[in-house]
Amino acid sequence: MIKPDGVQRGLVGEIISRFERRGLKLVAIKVESPSKEHLEKHYSDLASKPFFPSLIKYMTSGPVVAMVWEGRGAASLGRQLLGQTNPTASAPGTIRGDFCIDMGSNLIHGSDSQESAQKEIDLWFPNGVTEYQLDSAKWVYEQ
Ligand code: UDP
Ligand code: MG
Repeated sequence: MIKPDGVQRGLVGEIISRFERRGLKLVAIKVESPSKEHLEKHYSDLASKPFFPSLIKYMTSGPVVAMVWEGRGAASLGRQLLGQTNPTASAPGTIRGDFCIDMGSNLIHGSDSQESAQKEIDLWFPNGVTEYQLDSAKWVYEQ
């Protein structure tokens, strides 16, 4: 999910492009201004953290772009593309390492496992995703 700062800074295309170029398949996407309640559910595992109120304020500061990307090992690949939670610890070449500085405006969310991805897909896309054959897959994956 591209966070409000990513949308406002005009980085949506740049970020989508990185996932596409890696070979992942886009199966769902939407622009939305989610409610506080929705984001509290999304980040429910962090509810007891001291930064939780500021995180919710950040995430409700503007629209976000929610996406589902599929591919072999997609969750861990996605985390590699993101970089570290703290952008200053993120290597250049990663999204956070290339475009941001503060943890409280770190541009993008990525599911941290296949299990949490499934939970987040159910929350953000209750009507499911679009399944199709990506023709380039035969060039991305060894045959
Ligand atoms: N966050 C923060 N301060 C912290 C830790 C996290 O503001 O000390 C914010 C940051 O925007 C982060 C989000 O809370 O992306 C969710 O935290 P998590 O540990 O899940 O990091 P992520 O999975 O996004 O790398
Ligand atoms: Mg996380």
